[in-house]
Amino acid sequence: MVNKRVQTLLEQLRAQGIRDEHVLEALAQVPREKFVDEAFEHKAWENVALPIGQGQTISQPYMVARMSELLLEDGPLDKVMEIGTGSGYQTAVLSQLVERIFSVERIKVLQDRAKERLLELNLRNVVFRWGDGWEGWNALGPYNGIIVTAAASEVPQALLDQLAIGGRLVIPVGAGETQELLLIVREEDGYSRHVLDLVRFVPLLNGPLA
Ligand code: SAH
Repeated sequence: MVNKRVQTLLEQLRAQGIRDEHVLEALAQVPREKFVDEAFEHKAWENVALPIGQGQTISQPYMVARMSELLLEDGPLDKVMEIGTGSGYQTAVLSQLVERIFSVERIKVLQDRAKERLLELNLRNVVFRWGDGWEGWNALGPYNGIIVTAAASEVPQALLDQLAIGGRLVIPVGAGETQELLLIVREEDGYSRHVLDLVRFVPLLNGPLA
């Protein structure tokens, strides 16, 4: 039996248009209170973005659900790369839904904490890399899915290159306070590009940071 706070959040997400029950189930399984700053634990099951330290934020549950749904819309995925591990919350949700995740983060302390949280939850299908998301993770590609949880000024070429044929890239793009959420699919002979929602993410910055 899922508790009341969880149930209320799931109802809100359904009302906002989230349809994939696997995605909703995954959100229900991940204790979001373990991923936010202690001072905000009481708000963990509200449909809001919250601080995770280092000037970064954990996305709204709606956005996590929306991006997961977009990634999985065309069927199950075995290899997914994530750019912007942050707290590891989106990672934990996706780890219930895809076979393997390769997650890249530029801020070491955030990555270390995310790693600990996923181990505590016994989610073991995730590999972490401390590095620059603009470069992706070429050695382990190509990927069937790539999700970027920070706003890029333009679509990073390396990520396009590391997408498998048929692969899907979900990424917020734009330099202003709001950005466009794009879905890019790699076809046999190029890329198709779909503009979806107006969104608000922290920027995708350059280079790793200790
Ligand atoms: N999805 C995360 C929230 C991400 S916030 C969660 O569920 O908690 C955006 C994250 O992207 C931050 O942790 C930030 O440090 C990271 N980031 C920004 N630029 C980056 C880059 N070039 N490479 C890798 N990570 C980056």
